[in-house]
Amino acid sequence: MLPPDEELDRHLFGRIVDLAAHDARPLTQALGLGRTDLAGLLGTHLPERAALLEGLDEDTGPNGAGEDALEEGDLRALLLEHRAGDGPEPVWLAAIVARRSLEANHLWQDMGFANRGELGAMFRRHFPSLVDLNSGDMKWKKFFYRQLCAREGFLLCKSPHCERCDDYAACFDGEKGAPLRAAAPPSGLRSP
Ligand code: SF4
Repeated sequence: MLPPDEELDRHLFGRIVDLAAHDARPLTQALGLGRTDLAGLLGTHLPERAALLEGLDEDTGPNGAGEDALEEGDLRALLLEHRAGDGPEPVWLAAIVARRSLEANHLWQDMGFANRGELGAMFRRHFPSLVDLNSGDMKWKKFFYRQLCAREGFLLCKSPHCERCDDYAACFDGEKGAPLRAAAPPSGLRSP
């Protein structure tokens, strides 16, 4: 069961940082967050992990995206349009989701979450109108592609209607899979 709202951010950011801290890239690059934002995130929600800031700078580096990848900046802008409130959390999360969406697995896996439900909880708390827009519960990366393509005025889909599309199963299969677990805590990182 997920914790109540006041604990949810700490819980979710803990999972995100746990996995990203094991990335071969600097944490700023793995998360798409500069050092200043990362320091704000850790200071607010995970102060015991401040040691992770050592040696980092503002550079979020190349995102390593291939030609067919989502456009990171466009996705970040889409997410920000749907953020709830004026706090920094959805701003940090928009950058993180845009960067982690470039990874190869289901988004909930590459965010470090234990299951897809945690991703849904994050979107409902910080991007509720996006959840309303994805009322059919499409796979999140497919949904982002469809949203961004529609904005550009083209549709990659075989059909204008999902219900009549041959690719329906590929877009709505529930994003099944196992969580990507970090093997062991890096130096200075304790579990919450
Ligand atoms: S089910 Fe078909 S129409 Fe719907 S998003 Fe997927 S590919 Fe596009």
